Amino acid sequence: MNVAADARAALLLVDLQRDFLAHPGLVPDAGTLTGNIARLLAAFRAAGLPVAHARTLVRADVDDRMPHWRRDNLWRCVEGTPGAAPPAELEARADEPILAKTFYSPFQNRSGHAGPRARVLVVAGVHAHACVRATVLDAYQRGYEVWVAADGVASYDPAHAALSRDHLEGRACRFLTMAEIARRLNLSLGDPAPGASPREPVHAGGGWRASGSGRVWRQHNPADHAELLYTVAIGDADDVDLAARRARERQRHWADEAADQGPARLRAWADALAGRRAAMVAALTREIGKPVADAEAEFDYALGLLAAAAGRAGARAPERIADGVEVMRRPLGVVGLITPWNNPLAIPVGKIAPALAYGNTVLWKPAPPGLGIVDHVLASLAEAGFPEDCVNVVIGDAETGQAVVRHADVAAISFTGSVAAGRAIAGLCALSGKPLQAELGGNNGVVIGACRDPARAAAELASAAFSFSGQRCTAPRRLIVTRDRYDDFLALFLARVGELRLGHPADPETRVGPLLSRQRRDEVLARVEAALSRGGELLRGGGIPAHAGQGCWLEPTVIAPADAGDAIVREESFGPVVVVLRADDFEAAVALCNDVEQGLVASLYSDDEDQLRHFSRHARAGILRINDAGRGIHPEAPFGGWKASGMGPPEHGRWDESFYCRPQAVYRAAPARPARQPEGAPWKN
Ligand code: NAD
Repeated sequence: MNVAADARAALLLVDLQRDFLAHPGLVPDAGTLTGNIARLLAAFRAAGLPVAHARTLVRADVDDRMPHWRRDNLWRCVEGTPGAAPPAELEARADEPILAKTFYSPFQNRSGHAGPRARVLVVAGVHAHACVRATVLDAYQRGYEVWVAADGVASYDPAHAALSRDHLEGRACRFLTMAEIARRLNLSLGDPAPGASPREPVHAGGGWRASGSGRVWRQHNPADHAELLYTVAIGDADDVDLAARRARERQRHWADEAADQGPARLRAWADALAGRRAAMVAALTREIGKPVADAEAEFDYALGLLAAAAGRAGARAPERIADGVEVMRRPLGVVGLITPWNNPLAIPVGKIAPALAYGNTVLWKPAPPGLGIVDHVLASLAEAGFPEDCVNVVIGDAETGQAVVRHADVAAISFTGSVAAGRAIAGLCALSGKPLQAELGGNNGVVIGACRDPARAAAELASAAFSFSGQRCTAPRRLIVTRDRYDDFLALFLARVGELRLGHPADPETRVGPLLSRQRRDEVLARVEAALSRGGELLRGGGIPAHAGQGCWLEPTVIAPADAGDAIVREESFGPVVVVLRADDFEAAVALCNDVEQGLVASLYSDDEDQLRHFSRHARAGILRINDAGRGIHPEAPFGGWKASGMGPPEHGRWDESFYCRPQAVYRAAPARPARQPEGAPWKN
């Protein structure tokens, strides 16, 4: 290494190899991670600080894989293969050592290299729950002061990663953002987004504020990837701290103000939103590629949810249980809301409205796509007269979300998103004892039974499955048809799918718009290809349409998988993909419908009373749809997934009360009467 011994700090990059970075479900995604780490690497090199590369390098000739890889017949990072190499931007320089290993810790490497000679060891790489964790523990034991680049590590198992971090932080290492590491070591991280000035990510005290995180998100137009819509800085733990503290201060007053002002303010909010309808529909269409018809449906749904919450807002008399025993309804405090990109209006409104109605204030971490909607929501809240800091915002990624969950002033978390992220958050909530409401991914089954109008069923299901390119948690994804009806129903369904109109999201005739991003499209495409390589049959679609150009379209795709155990059946494909399964009889079809981890929606098309009864009794999902795939979700009905699709109480209507406030039992003895004084006796004070 071209540096003096015992440098003040060294950088150790762990397992940044193509095979590991290609693992599905990596959080943050491989592109974001390598982009972040490339900046850190450049900063270390520019400062002449040592850099080392730990790599898993399996030798095919002697088969030195870890025993569990051998058991599972996994070949990854085989020496000399492209999968063992790093992405080009993280390639090692000739003077930087490569610590070749086959197990977890790079300190047990083939060449007996003792590791970089430095006081502080900065660790970045994958996977946060496995090799990074082992590296940190081993480095700590060897006497390093260890700093982990919090935005420079990733994992495909975020729950385990979050718990690993909690275990390591403050014991074996510190988790610091790269900006903080650069500040402490006096390094220059360079411009994260050359040419673009990122928008500010923190809204607190009634206005937007900058962040010192040094990280950015770039949002491209889904219909034309070449167009960069905006660049936004990613908020960090300091930003979360500021927004949370201000929300806590406000909540002390809002808890009482909500009783008087809540109903009128929420109604005024609905009016203010309604006045922005056209602009918000246009923002949904442009920023996340939601076709106009779906964007309008989302808008109406958001207003329905707001009306439902407004109807329950305001003072309520204590509930009397018995003489001198009553129950008061109390707010929780500051509620942390973490929301996904695919319904950037209805989901946040469905959480913010009840949170405020019951006297809480809000710290909201939206997903970075769809920020035009965040602007409208905040502006309309101000128009409605909500005091500043009732709803504060920090825009950010998983790291930011975790800072929200960890913050001591955040009393509870309501989350909507993927199962993996929900589990990571659940782990953190468990550590601090915070209540969690989580609405998670679906993988929704539809049983086609003795249905008198299969043509109607086929048309409704084709539309429900592929509208907004299947980027809806409630979209049907698995059609399960009994053997005797399979061929006829499949023909009807494929014909209806063929009639769906692909097009620009701003065109009112469009049913199938683009996916959110190239990366999302490529992930879905990779899943389809994997299913086909395992023997699945492609019944329709499966490719990028000819006219897509720079847009992120994918054809509506229908697959008959080789096996009901395939990943394409068991995992949610958040895209325009439907699998069709054949069942021996109706009961087997219902069993297949249940035979996945998730349980958000289960549907049946049948006019047979026995089948209806059997399905209603046995289907395991939070929402059942009977001969009805087309209708929207009712804002007063409980919305909550069963099994892996949800945690905590469901959302909406009267069910919101069980999450956004808590009962307080009050035992009150009758006030003591003053003792009777003998007639004429003087009062003594
Ligand atoms: P996601 O889970 O990747 O992200 C959701 C939100 O959580 C984002 O704000 C993200 O930044 C944040 N986040 C991600 N990982 C985190 C972590 N480890 N800790 C803290 N915060 C984290 O989901 P997405 O891609 O934005 O949305 C699609 C997913 O959401 C799909 O799985 C879909 O089914 C699900 N979804 C569910 C519902 C429902 O009501 N059940 C509704 C809409 C979407």
